[in-house]
Amino acid sequence: MVASSTMESVVYSVRMRAADDQQHLSGAERLVDKAEVEETVSALTLRALRAADVSDVEIHCSVEKINSDAIQFMTLPNVQPYQVASYEEGRDLAESLLEVAGVPKQFARDSLKTLDAGPGPGGQVMRGAVVVDVCTGERLEDDPARGVRATRMDLTAECRVTQEALLLKADLGHRRVIEALTLSGKVLSAPGVVAELCWSDDSAYTAGYVASPSNGYQRISDLKASGNPIGGRVIFVDLSITGVVETVDFLENQPILFNQPGEVFSCVKWSPDHV
Ligand code: AMP
Repeated sequence: MVASSTMESVVYSVRMRAADDQQHLSGAERLVDKAEVEETVSALTLRALRAADVSDVEIHCSVEKINSDAIQFMTLPNVQPYQVASYEEGRDLAESLLEVAGVPKQFARDSLKTLDAGPGPGGQVMRGAVVVDVCTGERLEDDPARGVRATRMDLTAECRVTQEALLLKADLGHRRVIEALTLSGKVLSAPGVVAELCWSDDSAYTAGYVASPSNGYQRISDLKASGNPIGGRVIFVDLSITGVVETVDFLENQPILFNQPGEVFSCVKWSPDHV
């Protein structure tokens, strides 16, 4: 972990991606000091091996040098958890939250359908995110199997300790929450991004979220049925603010270290009458 007080002039971006044949299985991201590269590669590789219930998993790990001067420091989004009674209710809530963020109702609905059907070719999961023009509803990613991957982001050691404690206190100690919050923090800070929708492709993990720059990370307890292995991410961009090339370049290349935690608010028990 990088500590902001002792940061070296070079840090390393360690990235792991696991696949079964062409199907994406899992991925993870870290920014670490040189002394931690070996341990991080080993931990992420082990994690991919343990998570994969397939015999012929393929794991790609990369270690890339990053000049610390290029790193931007940021604050993580605030977290608002919602408890819903079913995933159908969760999707209604997600649609409303996307509308509040500025996504037209029809495109919000379409994005839920896209993830439900499997956003990649042939209804498969993608390695990265779908990118949608918020004004036309058009999909913009060049490669429909890969999509756009947000990379080169992490938390400083101090920020991780504080954010983990805040999440744990709110019963959100699951590793996936802090990882999704970090990824979403990077997505929301990209130029032109209006909102993000996500639910996992882990069949045992039914939670997901809608995030937006003004309302932060809004976690929804259920966005799919347990046992469903299809998930994904949709990033909505406003092309009147910036070109998609700039947004994608930021998401894929700009190194970000979050050095301030987001607040974690009390869980809201949502019912359809709330809206
Ligand atoms: P996960 O939350 O890890 O289960 O990922 C859910 C989905 O989000 C995956 O199926 C991918 O389509 C997408 N995804 C995963 N990692 C990234 C990333 N780093 N950037 C953009 N999209 C991602």
